[in-house]
Amino acid sequence: MPELEQLQRAALKAIEESPDVSVLDQHRVDYLGKKGSLTERLKMLGQLPAAERPTAGAAINRVKAVLQAAIAGRRQSLEQAGLEDKQKAEAIDVTLPGRQVELGSLHPVTKVLERIEQFFASIGYEVVEGPEIEDDYHNFEALNIPRHHPARAMHDTFYLSDSLLLRTHTSPVQVRVMEARKPPYRIICPGRVFRVDTPDPSHLPMFHQVEGLLIDESSSFADLKGTIVEFLRVFFENNDLQVRFRPSYFPFTEPSAEVDVQCVNCLGEGHCRVCGSTGWLEIMGSGMVHPNVLEMSGIDSEKYTGFAFGMGPDRLAMLRYGVSDLRYFIDNDLRFLEQFS
Ligand SMILES: [Zn+2]
Repeated sequence: MPELEQLQRAALKAIEESPDVSVLDQHRVDYLGKKGSLTERLKMLGQLPAAERPTAGAAINRVKAVLQAAIAGRRQSLEQAGLEDKQKAEAIDVTLPGRQVELGSLHPVTKVLERIEQFFASIGYEVVEGPEIEDDYHNFEALNIPRHHPARAMHDTFYLSDSLLLRTHTSPVQVRVMEARKPPYRIICPGRVFRVDTPDPSHLPMFHQVEGLLIDESSSFADLKGTIVEFLRVFFENNDLQVRFRPSYFPFTEPSAEVDVQCVNCLGEGHCRVCGSTGWLEIMGSGMVHPNVLEMSGIDSEKYTGFAFGMGPDRLAMLRYGVSDLRYFIDNDLRFLEQFS
């Protein structure tokens, strides 16, 4: 039966060339299914003369067996290849570099704040915090700055209502401590403060302050000087750092002084941009607490004296790390921040 041999050849070729299992299945149906070409031939056996039926039937069944075996073999190799492809796709390349876990770090201003707190904690100061939304009384009046006092003009204030505002300095925290506790005490008050300002290299509408307050029965201006000079020498890690006190005015201290340090950039040589060629940097304000401020908080100014000081950690961070523009601190640019990690 040459016709049958031709069919077998064509079928084997199609099976061997099946690119995937679904094409293979289609060939199986086409040849061996209920209406497949081989099945049709078996059905047609009845039309043959009786003597030829056994030989013809046996020949068709042989072809059927050959095709079944070929389909099973092809199916196995297709499935094997699929598995290998899948394994290849899922394989782990152990020579690739690992994925890094990015660790965050403290903001440079936070680091400076911690450094300041560490120093003052080491000489017995307690860290106290207060609300950022203050009332007019604690932010101004209790600090000897009544309404219409010209000193209010130095504070461009964000008012929330007639009596509430975003604190313009951390001094109200000191008032709250003086109201609530009996002296003696020594505290520092770190925190955010707010003033209406357009951002430029040295101004931001939100910045930080650390204020300090000591009240007892024997404090003097000499204690104030000693404390501040020691702090600045430790902070800038320079035992010979020159510090000078210039008479100044603050409503809540008397006498008051601005504190300058020898320029940490040119070491006082005085020909650099950081200090404006003066050799000095204005670094903090200070003074003996005004008797009016003590009395307003119910402290006997005949018995107690005290000193207060305040500094800007943002400016200290700029000097310590050599940062030229305050706005870098709030840009959230990782290329900048990663330098401090
Ligand atoms: Zn300088």
